Amino acid sequence: MSSYQRICLVHYHEIGLKGRNRSSFETRLVRNLEGLLRSYPIAEIKRISGRILVLLSSEADYALVCQVEEAIRMVPGVARVSCGYRCDRVLDDMCAAASDALQDVGEFEAFKVAARRSHTDFPTSSMEMNQIVGAYLCDSYPHAKVKMKDPDVVVGVEVIQGASYVYARSLRGIGGLPVGSSGRLVCLLSSGIDSPVATWKMARRGAVCIGVHFSGRPAAEGTSEFLVDDIAHVLERTGCIARVYVVPFGEYQRQIAASVPPSLRVIMYRRLMFKVAQEVACKEHARGLVTGESLGQVASQTIDNIAATDEAVDMPVLRPLIGTDKLEIIEQAEKLGTFVISSQDATDCCTLFMPRNPETHAKMDAVLHAEESLPVERWIAEILEDVEVRDYFCPAYKKPQL
Ligand code: ATP
Ligand code: MG
Repeated sequence: MSSYQRICLVHYHEIGLKGRNRSSFETRLVRNLEGLLRSYPIAEIKRISGRILVLLSSEADYALVCQVEEAIRMVPGVARVSCGYRCDRVLDDMCAAASDALQDVGEFEAFKVAARRSHTDFPTSSMEMNQIVGAYLCDSYPHAKVKMKDPDVVVGVEVIQGASYVYARSLRGIGGLPVGSSGRLVCLLSSGIDSPVATWKMARRGAVCIGVHFSGRPAAEGTSEFLVDDIAHVLERTGCIARVYVVPFGEYQRQIAASVPPSLRVIMYRRLMFKVAQEVACKEHARGLVTGESLGQVASQTIDNIAATDEAVDMPVLRPLIGTDKLEIIEQAEKLGTFVISSQDATDCCTLFMPRNPETHAKMDAVLHAEESLPVERWIAEILEDVEVRDYFCPAYKKPQL
């Protein structure tokens, strides 16, 4: 009967992490993991010398460790997660734990041991630990060979403060920065394929993302709203969305369609969407907007039309997919788990009142002239009155004070 406990060790990239920056990054990642892993049997999550330790409760078995590992892997800021055991700083225990940890990797031929100690108060050097644990593993796995270059498995043995951590199973994480380390952004979120990916990419760079969805209601049914809710639940699993503001937009589109030249309608819809999103951003103390646009994908995504919509707002508009091909976006949406949802048909405001020949090279003076006839300020005030807010679980988010 072994006395050691199951652990996951979270590794993160330390590049660019210096001084105070580093400590707030680590604290943020610990808080996010605490929140996102709240339904698993976990005894403790804490920082230990360049790693985050996730200590599982004693009832956790291997199947559960795999679930926890998968949940950790997808959290922004996690570069790698390794699973194994914590034991005393006693070489016999470390050897036995390494042998057990190796059982978790399945078939392998060649391995090496990579030992590390964070303090020199442990008398055995890293080199000696490599030799001692390596020799023990050769005895318990007689078929296995030691190989320094490109082994199938690297057995990690880390002596950190008062304990040692031993693992063999190790998987790459999603990378990026912990949500909450790069401020707040408001993301224009349709039920299409692109904008959920765009939102996720900004969350992976550390932004707290707040969605705004423009629904075709009351001119159309609210199907797109249900799809956006499903998409938000997917993003929520890794803490990548905090709220979604749902705007019934159909009536405003009808009015725009009735009063501006057909070729400029889409630009007018989009300028109004951007202005509303900017107001939401001010309420939420967010410093920029995000869209899922990709250059040339549709008529509204030419550089002239992008310029004509950007002119409507005073804050940066980030377009993380601007240079990405549709097929690459689809692949990313499939990995993320939003593609199946986004592939369903829904009438949202995009499909309503679409002109046959939208302008592809909007002229700013024509756009501003057409907009003069619209009561834009009054509409924005009305829209903000009618907006519906849905909250999602995001450990890095705090509601703004009213
Ligand atoms: P997506 O780009 O998300 O696949 P789409 O292709 O239907 O949706 P486009 O017409 O390409 O939408 O719009 C470009 C961008 O404008 C979207 O990526 C999204 O950021 C924003 N947008 C479009 N429609 C909506 C909407 N109904 N609500 C919120 N944002 C929207
Ligand atoms: Mg699109």
